Amino acid sequence: MSDANFNFDLIIIGAGYGGFDAAKHAAEKGLKVGIIESRDMGGTCVNRGCVPSKALLAASGKVREISNRKHLESFGIHAAPVRFERQKIAEHANKLVSNIRSNLTKTLQRVGVEIIKGFARIEGKQCVGVREVNGVDRVLRAKDIIIATGSDPFVPPGIEIDGRTVFTSDQAINLEWLPKWIAIVGSGYIGLEFADVYTALGCEVSIIEALERVMPTFDKDIAKIASRNLIDNRDIDARSGFLATKITPGCPVNIELSDVKTKEISEEIQVDAVLVATGRIPSSNNLNLESVGVKTERGFIPVNEKMQVIVDGNPIDNLWAVGDVTGKLMLAHAAAAQGTIAVENILGNEKTIDYRSIPAATFTHPEISSVGLMESEAIKLASEENFELGIVRSYFKANSKALAEIEGDGLMKMFFRKDNGEVLGAHIFGLHAADLIQEIANAISRRLGVIELSQEVHTHPTLSEVVEVAYKQAASQLNNN
Ligand SMILES: Cc1cc2nc3c(=O)[nH]c(=O)nc-3n(C[C@H](O)[C@H](O)[C@H](O)COP(=O)(O)OP(=O)(O)OC[C@H]3O[C@@H](n4cnc5c(N)ncnc54)[C@H](O)[C@@H]3O)c2cc1C
Repeated sequence: MSDANFNFDLIIIGAGYGGFDAAKHAAEKGLKVGIIESRDMGGTCVNRGCVPSKALLAASGKVREISNRKHLESFGIHAAPVRFERQKIAEHANKLVSNIRSNLTKTLQRVGVEIIKGFARIEGKQCVGVREVNGVDRVLRAKDIIIATGSDPFVPPGIEIDGRTVFTSDQAINLEWLPKWIAIVGSGYIGLEFADVYTALGCEVSIIEALERVMPTFDKDIAKIASRNLIDNRDIDARSGFLATKITPGCPVNIELSDVKTKEISEEIQVDAVLVATGRIPSSNNLNLESVGVKTERGFIPVNEKMQVIVDGNPIDNLWAVGDVTGKLMLAHAAAAQGTIAVENILGNEKTIDYRSIPAATFTHPEISSVGLMESEAIKLASEENFELGIVRSYFKANSKALAEIEGDGLMKMFFRKDNGEVLGAHIFGLHAADLIQEIANAISRRLGVIELSQEVHTHPTLSEVVEVAYKQAASQLNNN
């Protein structure tokens, strides 16, 4: 097909973080770009995810801090009882969302991206069909297509959502009311962040986790110290090994709990509200992927490390996918990184993604973060590549800044190769863990070893010295040291 037959160099389906980053990067590099969005510009992160949830966490975190009498009294501070307005906290989140959504839209317009509002589908090779909001249906041709359609909350069978008493994070971020007692189904990062918000604002929280321990996706040592701080020390009743098999909205909401092992109904509880935080599923329905022979895996679009969509292990020309819909690392910055990589490859600059160096964070108070390998993955790699695995632990209680803040309950755990010192992964629970992890992510990205890293000088007194101590401990344990 000649260039004249194409409407665009690149069409992107979905304007979440993945689509946004790809569109901006491609337009800045001189490509003619169209982006199609069926809902709100900015996708999940801006409208229903990172942005509003962090605004709620910021406000509720302040409430938590100034209502923590014991902590304040340790500094000799006596604060009056805290008052807060739920409505204003919700408004803070809403305003931030519209601000960021508007900035993001303007950024795309400024770099010349054409924004098309409508629902898109693939219509065969290099063709995208779009049903625009005004009802017009047309087919557009593009040299390359990136699918960046993201994900939606997963609601297990048996759970009925009414959006008011039983809801997902999509509704929770509106903070429309504060239930006296709320059950949160799932103890992943979304469940934990909302538990942080609700407990700070005075709600009683129950956490229901199907797997055998709470926080099953986190490193086990980090989960232990984090759950002691974030669950056990708060007004939270956490049950693991129980499946919420039936949830009926109403006043009260009825939850039927079954024992995961026996499958028997074990109990029924009544609460004021339920937040279902049981993971997310890819938005790949109705994309007409069959027209190009793409078979999804549990709904996820298979891609290689260049972000090309693959069928039976082979890349399809001119078709790319990025973000949550690929199911790789379902995080905003991972989606954005994938978007840039896809565009670089479209431009002919061969680039692959390095998932090992992409960090993740949970913005509870205190925070949890991680980068690189989990312990089981590090053990497997050590056995496959025949090296000795090193594990070090660095404690916040030995850090002057953490002690000055009376926040000494924190831990950093790091995995490294004892033969060449390469850092393989790190997991942190403690004050500002989300910021601390970046230093280790950068080291992993450059495949740096702990000898070099341990010689880097860290500011005193800062929390970053927790990382320095880990590097120094690791350096002293190298095989040829
Ligand atoms: C409560 C919550 C908190 C979170 N907090 C964080 C955090 O702190 N940090 C972090 O990194 N990540 C966080 N995330 C995850 C983050 O939001 C996602 O990883 C990120 O939004 C994925 O970006 P994406 O571009 O792949 O998809 P999305 O943001 O989901 O965007 C996809 C877009 O595609 C559109 N679309 C779908 N199908 C079509 C179609 N056929 N035609 C046209 N448009 C279509 C959708 O309307 C949507 O706007 C959070 C998520 C939630 C739910």
